Amino acid sequence: MTKYVYNFTEGDKDQKDLLGGKGANLAEMTKLGLPVPPGFTITTETCRYYLGHNSVPEQLDDQVTRAIADVENVMGKKLGDPRDPLLMSVRSGAKFSMPGMMETVLNIGLNDESVLGLSQIGNERFAWDSYRRLIQMFGKTVMDIDGDLFATALHTLQERNGYSGDLDMTTEDLKELVGTFKDIFKKETGIDFPQDPREQLNLAVVAVFNSWNTDRARIYRRREHIPNDLGTAVNVQTMVFGNMGQGSGTGVCFTRDPSTGDAGVYGDYLENAQGEDVVAGIRNTLSLADLQRLDETSYNELVAIMKKLENHYRDLCDIEFTIQQGKLWMLQTRVGKRTAAAAFRIAKQLVEEGLITQDEAVTRVSGDQLTSLLFPQFDKKAAKNVLTRGMAASPGAAVGEIVLNNEQAKERVAAGASVILVRRETNPDDLEGMVAASGVLTARGGKTSHAAVVARGMGRCCVVGADELLVEEVAGTVSIKGTNRVLKAGDIISIDGTTGEVFEGAVAVSNSPVMTYISEGLQSALQATDDADTQDLVRAVDMILTRADNARKLLVRANADTPEDAQRAREFGAQGIGLCRTEHMFLGDRRKLIETVILAKTEEAKQAAFDALLPLQKGDFLGIFEAMDGLPVTVRLIDPPLHEFLPDLTELSVELGVKAAKGEKISDDERALLEAVKANHEQNPMLGLRGVRLGLKMPGLIAMQVRAIAEATAELKKAGKDPRPEIMVPLIGSSREMQIVRDMAIDVLHAVSQEYGVELDLPIGNMIELPRAAMSADTIAAESDFFSFGTNDLTQTTWGFSRDDVESTFFNEYFDYGVFGISPFESIDIHGVGAVVEMGVERGRRTKPELKMGVCGEHGGDPASIHFFAEIGLNYVSCSPFRVPVARLEAGRAAISNESPRGVGGVANHTA
Ligand code: PEP
Ligand code: MG
Repeated sequence: MTKYVYNFTEGDKDQKDLLGGKGANLAEMTKLGLPVPPGFTITTETCRYYLGHNSVPEQLDDQVTRAIADVENVMGKKLGDPRDPLLMSVRSGAKFSMPGMMETVLNIGLNDESVLGLSQIGNERFAWDSYRRLIQMFGKTVMDIDGDLFATALHTLQERNGYSGDLDMTTEDLKELVGTFKDIFKKETGIDFPQDPREQLNLAVVAVFNSWNTDRARIYRRREHIPNDLGTAVNVQTMVFGNMGQGSGTGVCFTRDPSTGDAGVYGDYLENAQGEDVVAGIRNTLSLADLQRLDETSYNELVAIMKKLENHYRDLCDIEFTIQQGKLWMLQTRVGKRTAAAAFRIAKQLVEEGLITQDEAVTRVSGDQLTSLLFPQFDKKAAKNVLTRGMAASPGAAVGEIVLNNEQAKERVAAGASVILVRRETNPDDLEGMVAASGVLTARGGKTSHAAVVARGMGRCCVVGADELLVEEVAGTVSIKGTNRVLKAGDIISIDGTTGEVFEGAVAVSNSPVMTYISEGLQSALQATDDADTQDLVRAVDMILTRADNARKLLVRANADTPEDAQRAREFGAQGIGLCRTEHMFLGDRRKLIETVILAKTEEAKQAAFDALLPLQKGDFLGIFEAMDGLPVTVRLIDPPLHEFLPDLTELSVELGVKAAKGEKISDDERALLEAVKANHEQNPMLGLRGVRLGLKMPGLIAMQVRAIAEATAELKKAGKDPRPEIMVPLIGSSREMQIVRDMAIDVLHAVSQEYGVELDLPIGNMIELPRAAMSADTIAAESDFFSFGTNDLTQTTWGFSRDDVESTFFNEYFDYGVFGISPFESIDIHGVGAVVEMGVERGRRTKPELKMGVCGEHGGDPASIHFFAEIGLNYVSCSPFRVPVARLEAGRAAISNESPRGVGGVANHTA
């Protein structure tokens, strides 16, 4: 029989697949003997069953009944008992935390009778407040009633009595509200609010399952690349109350500061509040230091538990707790989300404290986090006009137009603007706006509010709790209280997610210290700042990146085709150039020469054009080889379709047509050009005369390019330099193609070698960009000195679609259908294109076990893809210079981590 329900005493933290993150951690805390209110977890498998069958499995009912009985025994109370009710909460908890995505229902077990029992035990006001909260939450999340109906009823009552907030409401008010809420419930659903506690619980569980597929849950999963088919677990737990007056409260805390990474406990506390109040950011919170003042015993116990949890998890823990009349309860813990800077700094601290090794430190940070640290920051010296201040919730510097809702955000971003989403507070419905915006600013809420948690997770700059702001969405204004400053939607502001400052207008931004470190080294970066936290961050990045460099087996090269790019790549730590594209070298003034080659009627004319190109091309290579002296430079022979060097067919036809219509004379050259353009026109250029095919059709082109490479090399060698070019042939599909080009190249190399008296033993290899090349890699390898997988083209040719056409036509639908989890152009499609690469590696090495292989498509800089390439035994990845540091880190992580990128929920992308 399948076990669908696990008591908290039965699981542990490693069962996240089955129990979800929250359930696994509740079980772990229970195992550690911490004060966790008893409860049980309904597994993710149950959710998957429900989503597949649209009904829960048959055995679930019995298993839940038994689990409730266990809890009742421990608590000595019965669920919904009219005299002394046991109340329970129902919460979602997927494997990956999805803040604000899924729903919670509190106070299950209250009804018209048990509310009276609870009034006797606690106090009457609290009992009725709990009951109205149940009807409201249950109505909204389980029955899908518009939440505004309840909120409006609540406000109407408060306004009528002239109250300033919830706390002014009397017991009588709350009783009245329960009546009103029940009426709303009946009117909207046609049924009475369910009085049977077990029915309440069953309905809430199913509502959690259903919430897995809400739009915002899907948007979040898509963004975070969380597979759609994991499902969520449901946690059913004994309620404890932070809203039982003074001496009760609820809070969220972190064992280190998740924003800066500073050591020392950190948190928010709200007295006399329940569950979600802190996270929702409705009221401004107190600090943990305030809690120490209010309730030293609970504070000390909490701090001891925080220490215990951090030592146990060996990482920053994020904790939710409640104090019910002086008794501390732990409601949740997990390894906490943190900003990129905090991730690096905390990893270093944990190494220094002996909790983790340097290798573990490498696995605790990610390439994406490193990327975000490379972004510029506000120039400290720039003139700034501070409008107001809030709490620094997620670092970075964002400049943009004020937008006040999702629609404005999307519209202005689509029009090319950079925007700051300004809200009173955010809730899960604001996710789209947050995704579109460069920064998020809220008037309310603490560092653990929804806005803060989500923004940190996305690496989005965010300032929260700027309580001087009065945000009026309908009027389209943001004013600063106590002043006559009024800003409008569309006005430019700048927000600093590191200090919490909000500036008027656009503030100048300056380079990031981590970027200084990457390009100029540790000493320069340390000297460039006297800020201790910044220096600590730079040291942390240095420690981790150095370790990653030492651990990795993959080399990292860059795609660069100018001396400047080559220089930058080298500064960033590139160990060579993996792809030097040569086509741009034939544009501009030189396009005419190629045109001449195409139009030439005689071999002499053609050769004359090649001869004119030779010194220019040689000059290109001299610059690049010098910049990369001592390191390999893979030069790819010309690749694009011929027509890219000719005028556009339509434009030229129109131009000549207009000329003819005006009676002007069309020259023979013009006529010949038009003929050539027509002759070279292709229906599918991507699959046409390009790559090696072009070279074989125009052998003079290959000879000229190889000669330019050879002469540049010989000259530099004579000058005492150490140039290391490698010649690469694009779009190879057969071994015979490779054999011909190779023979041609060797002839030229021999000739130049003799002319210069310099040995020229350059490797000649090929790209694998066609499925046929991967399939026949064993025979191609016999003719080749190295392979470089061109995964851009290989993705196009394996799927049979052209990137330029498909990305804007049907990709969005494919994301929605779940065909792609992420674009296959962004992250390697492991099971399809990845399998083709793997086949190429395996077959190529069958012929030459030591054959050097790399990848030079965009995927070479993508973290998940890098893990895959490491796993299948490539020798190097090549990516754009800016991504080199990230690739170095990820290659190190790949070598250290033993998690395979292929598994669901690993770093893999998820293409069905
Ligand atoms: C590739 O196809 O992956 C590649 C690197 O070549 P290009 O992007 O220039 O077609
Ligand atoms: Mg290509």
